[in-house]
Amino acid sequence: MKKIFLGPPGSGKGTAASRIAPKFNIPHISTGDLFRENIKNQTPIGIKAQQYMDEGKLVPDEVVIEMLKKRISQNDCENGFILDGFPRTMPQAEMLEELTDIDIAINMDVTEEVVITRNSARISCSGCGKIYNLRSTPPKEKGICDECKEKVVRRPDDEPEVIKKRLEIYKQQTSPLINFYRNKGILKDVFCDDIMQTPEETFQAVMDAIEKFLEEMKK
Ligand code: ADP
Ligand code: ZN
Repeated sequence: MKKIFLGPPGSGKGTAASRIAPKFNIPHISTGDLFRENIKNQTPIGIKAQQYMDEGKLVPDEVVIEMLKKRISQNDCENGFILDGFPRTMPQAEMLEELTDIDIAINMDVTEEVVITRNSARISCSGCGKIYNLRSTPPKEKGICDECKEKVVRRPDDEPEVIKKRLEIYKQQTSPLINFYRNKGILKDVFCDDIMQTPEETFQAVMDAIEKFLEEMKK
């Protein structure tokens, strides 16, 4: 099954997608993670992407598209995949249409207020990328990743000023995709605007939405 996750930065889509993927035995593909890995290894893609990311801007479509095409042509994507953070612009969505058929688009429905509160508490592992939240899901040992013991830090683009910019860009460039997929009849909204909602509850809400969608498809 081919799924995509839409939602503003900090809506919890990365965390939800990473938990959903193993349930369906498909890879979780986060373009943000792919970029961060490329930056860490200082690859040509990473070098191109770094400045845009640090400033909270979108990386140009052609760079993202090239990277994504390569990733989804790998063997582990044969039975599907979950895209998290792609597509983010209309040209990206159109390109994806040409490449493959998406089965379901999950829209993480959340207000700006909640997103700002969540993002300001978001930190992640500099080693494996695991996401923590200082309010709801802090690492067991302060500043140290539970999984790989590397340092847990705030991403440069999670600084409050940069978050505002990312939200603005989301509204302008990414939110039109919600209607694009709604009109195709494959959009499912998942309400996740409760600041106290745990990652487990969000995961469950997404699973319910997928199951409901599959039921409807059968009819
Ligand atoms: P979030 O979903 O919290 O915004 P991501 O990890 O998905 O964080 O993305 C981080 C950054 O990576 C984005 O702000 C952007 O600069 C870049 N990026 C990721 N995916 C895309 C994309 N599809 N198109 C353009 N830029 C992207
Ligand atoms: Zn880690």
